[in-house]
Amino acid sequence: MDLKIKDVRAEMPNYANYKDWQRPGPILGIAVHHSATADRTTGAPIGNAHTFFDYHVNQRGWAHGGYNYVITGSGDIEYALDEKIAAYHAGFADPDNSEGLEQGQYWNNHYLAVCLAGWFSQGRTYRDDAGRTQPIPNNFTGPSPAQMESLLALLQQLRKKYNLPVENVRGHRELAGNATTCPGPNLDPAQIRVALRAADEAEPRPQLEPDIPSSVAPGEHVLLLPDTDKYFNAAMAYIWKFQPDVSFAVDEARGRWPYVTVVGNPEAISDDQLARLRVGGAKLVQRIAGDPTAAQTTLDKLAETGLRFLTKPDQPAPPPGSWRSYTVQPGDTLSLIARQLYGDAQLWPIIFEANQDILSDPSRLRPGQVLKIPPKP
Ligand SMILES: [Zn+2]
Repeated sequence: MDLKIKDVRAEMPNYANYKDWQRPGPILGIAVHHSATADRTTGAPIGNAHTFFDYHVNQRGWAHGGYNYVITGSGDIEYALDEKIAAYHAGFADPDNSEGLEQGQYWNNHYLAVCLAGWFSQGRTYRDDAGRTQPIPNNFTGPSPAQMESLLALLQQLRKKYNLPVENVRGHRELAGNATTCPGPNLDPAQIRVALRAADEAEPRPQLEPDIPSSVAPGEHVLLLPDTDKYFNAAMAYIWKFQPDVSFAVDEARGRWPYVTVVGNPEAISDDQLARLRVGGAKLVQRIAGDPTAAQTTLDKLAETGLRFLTKPDQPAPPPGSWRSYTVQPGDTLSLIARQLYGDAQLWPIIFEANQDILSDPSRLRPGQVLKIPPKP
């Protein structure tokens, strides 16, 4: 589908002064906002890129209008601020960097900002000229169907362009350090992700893995073992075979090695920490998840087959008729995994049945979970 986007970037106030700015790192996700602007007499969404940017630049004194995209109440998509420029949409004050989020600028630096015109809440009010609080009628309290359709299509297009996993499409209120109800109590970001997953299943799988290097020089690859006591023995054969650097200090790994293999579950090192390693310049960051036994199975198999890294989607083919394991990646669904491993998305119930001990709901997978995969029937 060809998405209709109106390019209004050059019409925005102060454009000449910021048009050559560059964000200080890669785009890793997208945040969804609402403008919290509604017509006082009808409750309908008001505003567009011009009015929001005019307010932020000319009333508030910002350098630019804050959002990369605006979607009007009627569903028109406006491209307002170049994607290469960091938006002002989710920054917070953290001078000591106690959150480890680039002094509060992480979301601005690495998340695109998409703003829906409208105010997605019941019980909205405004102050009249006499200073009295007045109600706004409870109409148009959620995004219109046209707005949702445009939002989902835009999010899919941006996810493809930047290889963004569905987990990294978030509502403003889901971003650490931000205390807000945005994009409004009536817009549930989890529902947006459900819709995006459904759209993923309808199309070929987006490539989420970066290129696997064909050769690695000494000192270029580190095996990170945040939970050393539990996992060191599991990694012995792998270390012996490939002689990577080995480190336990996750925070010191940033910017030091181009290739990083992390051994352990998200409890020991989170997906956000992996993302920060990528931001720090790592070309490839892979996780070997699971308990020490599962991790050792994966690492031993890599050592045996001479593969330093997990390859996706061409994982080493198992002998016919044998079970294997699969580590859930961000954005995975059972159908996608079935398509990848069996060549047929319809076979997902086989995987669900085989993993009843860890899966209670076929639509809930956690990245890092290790699934048992029965042989293809
Ligand atoms: Zn917001």
